[in-house]
Amino acid sequence: MGLDKDLLDILACPHCLTPVREDGEKLVCTRPECGLRYAVEDGIPNMLIDDADKTCPKCGKARAYDGRVLSCPGCGGKVEDPRLAARSA
Ligand SMILES: [Zn+2]
Ligand SMILES: [Zn+2]
Repeated sequence: MGLDKDLLDILACPHCLTPVREDGEKLVCTRPECGLRYAVEDGIPNMLIDDADKTCPKCGKARAYDGRVLSCPGCGGKVEDPRLAARSA
């Protein structure tokens, strides 16, 4: 069962604001270095970063999230929230 296309069209990754795509039972951020995976429970997407699968798309390790930056202990990759990045620039 797929998600409603109108709903999918307005959903974006809350971390990097990039659109998401459906991948099986999950919604996946389409920004390659982010790639957060959000669960869909009973047809309702759970778009909370804290609950998302934060597996690193590059090295497969679980990334840490401090409320602002996703950081990978494996490859050192970092993905910052673009809103916060703009503010500090
Ligand atoms: Zn993202
Ligand atoms: Zn990594």
